Amino acid sequence: MMQKILNYIDGKLVEPKSGKYLDNYNPSEGKVYSLVADSDERDVSDAVIAAAKAFPAWSAMPTEERTKILLRVADLIDRDLEKLALAESIDNGKTVKFARSVDIYRAASNIRFYATASPHFASEAHVNEGDSVNYTTRFPIGVVGCISPWNLPLYLFTWKIAPALAAGCTVIGKPSELTPMTAFLFSQLCIEAGLPAGVLNIVHGLGGKAGQAIIEHPEITAISFTGGTVTGKKIAATAAPMFKKLSLELGGKNPNIIFADCDFEQAMKTSLLSSFSNQGEICLCGSRIFVERNLYNKFVEEFVKRTKELNVGDPQNETTQLGAMVSEAHLKKVLGYVALAKEEGGKILTGGNQLKMEGRCANGYFMEPTVIVGLNEKCRTNQEEIFGPVVTIMPFDTEEQAIGFANSTPYGLAASIWTENLKRAHRVAHQVKSGIIWINCWLHRDLRTPFGGMKQSGAGREGGWEAIRFFTEAKNVCVKL
Ligand code: NDP
Repeated sequence: MMQKILNYIDGKLVEPKSGKYLDNYNPSEGKVYSLVADSDERDVSDAVIAAAKAFPAWSAMPTEERTKILLRVADLIDRDLEKLALAESIDNGKTVKFARSVDIYRAASNIRFYATASPHFASEAHVNEGDSVNYTTRFPIGVVGCISPWNLPLYLFTWKIAPALAAGCTVIGKPSELTPMTAFLFSQLCIEAGLPAGVLNIVHGLGGKAGQAIIEHPEITAISFTGGTVTGKKIAATAAPMFKKLSLELGGKNPNIIFADCDFEQAMKTSLLSSFSNQGEICLCGSRIFVERNLYNKFVEEFVKRTKELNVGDPQNETTQLGAMVSEAHLKKVLGYVALAKEEGGKILTGGNQLKMEGRCANGYFMEPTVIVGLNEKCRTNQEEIFGPVVTIMPFDTEEQAIGFANSTPYGLAASIWTENLKRAHRVAHQVKSGIIWINCWLHRDLRTPFGGMKQSGAGREGGWEAIRFFTEAKNVCVKL
């Protein structure tokens, strides 16, 4: 009997109303290993009824009590760190090592951060001397929908639901149907931690069916979505006329700008990570590397050499650096972009092919890390999000040109800048149109900072107070003195 991934509704693990299940693949073996609930609007409706019933008590609960419950959930994630990391790796194809140190570790931090932040969340007051006093209260907004993608499954799922729950909202969550396992294990931990029934409900299934039903449900007042830009547009088109509050964290095509005066070794080491971590399946990966011309040849030569040395293989092996791609369809999409790059005149300096493994992983979806040069900034390869282990490298001559290249796509999520020149670092940071800028680092995290993108990379910000504000509704009370 294959394991079934059930919905978590009203505090219980339940079968989908349809009685149907979807195949869930282990991408490193290329085979089905579990079944996930194929939910529809009936399951979403049950979840909303449970969440609406739970809302009055959860939102009125003293913050300290909510905090205690959420901290118990975080502690249970720590307890099950190894089990969850292995599960994430099997479900997504990423290495266990990455899942342990990034996905699962950060999932527990997300919950701990928001559980301990909400008691400090204060409302503002504005005093108009001798005339009036205004104070602003913030109420939890109600039943909210949180929809997350497959690349960092439990990490991004908790990044949404933690602030929602901490703010006093009740939640309908939907993880990607490609990677539902850790959300399922998480629902078991919530039951063990004593999270009251209906506070969090997890509905599994297809985006176009279960996800769409969440977006369309009239009693869900806010939607926090992370995923692709095309899906984001569709969600906005449905939710905006219903006047739902929307937070959209979408795709990226992030520039990694390397000036000749950088710390070469740091820039090199970190650029390998920002190019290929998690098989390049991170929205923040720097997929377009721009290198100042007098460093270009040296950088390309060393970068290609080190890329060739990267170890692609069994994700359960502790020395593996790149695991499997999430699905066969995604692998094909990424290989399609390599073919496009060639058509556009690009030269593949290393990689570009599917990799065949031996033994357990013989049918897995593996790909060589790929470096492409010889393309201009306007071509499709350099404009569209590839979301795999593929980077392009281009030379630039001036600071203005680098900024122009960086800003030349419809995206504006993240950027890295490498220089030892302090003034230039700030100057460029101010002109690059991205919501997140890293100077001489990448993926360096402080949960208090606003997180999100400009242009087609999204609308709104997560992180810190931004997320708590999103999940609360402001009301200003003016008292005439
Ligand atoms: P998708 O947009 O395909 O899916 C994201 C989630 O939305 C999934 O749970 C999906 O369900 C669901 N979904 C799909 N269609 C609908 C719909 N009509 N209504 C409601 N929900 C729907 O993205 P991917 O999962 O492919 O994730 C990769 C994308 O996510 C990349 O573009 C990446 O850049 C972006 N991303 C952005 C981040 C950011 O912070 N800005 C962080 C991480 C990723 P299902 O998969 O089950 O169909």
